[in-house]
Amino acid sequence: MQDITGLSFDELKQVLAKWGQPHFHAQQIFSWIYKKGIIEFDKMSDLSKDLRKHLKENFSICDLELEQLQKSLDGTQKFLFRLKDENFIEAVSIPTKKRLTGCISSQVGCKFACSFCASGLLGFKRNLNCSDIINEVLYLKNNSSGRLVTPLETIEQGKRTGVSLTGLTHIVFMGTGEPLDNYDNVLKAVRIINSDYGLNIGARRITISTCGVIPAIKRFSTEALQIELSVSLHSADDKIRCRLMPVNKIYPLKELILACRQYIEKTKRQLTFEYVMLKGINSHLQDAIKLSKILRELKCKVNLIPFNPVKEGQFHPPDKEEALLFKEQLLKSGINVTLRKPRGQDIEAACGQLRLRYAKK
Ligand code: SF4
Repeated sequence: MQDITGLSFDELKQVLAKWGQPHFHAQQIFSWIYKKGIIEFDKMSDLSKDLRKHLKENFSICDLELEQLQKSLDGTQKFLFRLKDENFIEAVSIPTKKRLTGCISSQVGCKFACSFCASGLLGFKRNLNCSDIINEVLYLKNNSSGRLVTPLETIEQGKRTGVSLTGLTHIVFMGTGEPLDNYDNVLKAVRIINSDYGLNIGARRITISTCGVIPAIKRFSTEALQIELSVSLHSADDKIRCRLMPVNKIYPLKELILACRQYIEKTKRQLTFEYVMLKGINSHLQDAIKLSKILRELKCKVNLIPFNPVKEGQFHPPDKEEALLFKEQLLKSGINVTLRKPRGQDIEAACGQLRLRYAKK
């Protein structure tokens, strides 16, 4: 049975028209699901009994089963979901003082096999369809808490200072999978997440992350959307990048940076580069100097992310001093840079870790 969350607003209106129902019911149904968080047709009290029955006979809603939930001391929550076809996917909610970010998967597994990423280790199974993606977001929206809990707070039981948030404020497509490799489903879901009728999360609060699939970056630059694009770079050296990210053999750095430059020129938008820092591989001062050279004059910012270790992996995060030196070098070159704090280290929050352990079991 099809999940109703896979329908855009216009598609739902078309279904209702086929059933001889007025199209304003589409607004009521969207409002129940996306605004009020109701995922049972029987509770949609302003719809007639007949329409509710018809909906129940033809659609499911939010057909996603929670298999496991892990909660970190820092407030990060990791959800492992079982899909109808018995595949597993992960999503993570990450609270900070002012945000509650949902990190969403776009595929079951991933084709791109980055060597530091647990998601690549099980290979690619399938694209998520629009409803799978929307259901992750809805589940997080309805079940995450924005309470930021620090280890200190857990020691001093009851003494709490974090800010409470309800619902999701930001969405990042940085979970399992390459979002631009599942372009149509991801963009359809993004439009529902962004629309007034849907979750109404501002376009600038939605980020799509890519490992550097150049044709898809070009296509994305033609979309009339203000969605943020983030490119995972992880090295400014072709040899190192090929080792870390096999996609670099198809789309090497020079071509990727050119595509990024063209994207910035065309969209007049700033681009973000993600840089996972790996000790002894890409986090030395020399790596920062190389990175500054290729990013100079680009309207961009860089997120430095100390590696979140994977048990099965061979990589480690750099020392704090090395990470700070790296950041200083970029700042000296006039590049806007943030050094991220690792989150959810006590709950395997890095992309694909929980799913990998579960699959092995
Ligand atoms: S980092 Fe992203 S693109 Fe690379 S294997 Fe993991 S999920 Fe795929």
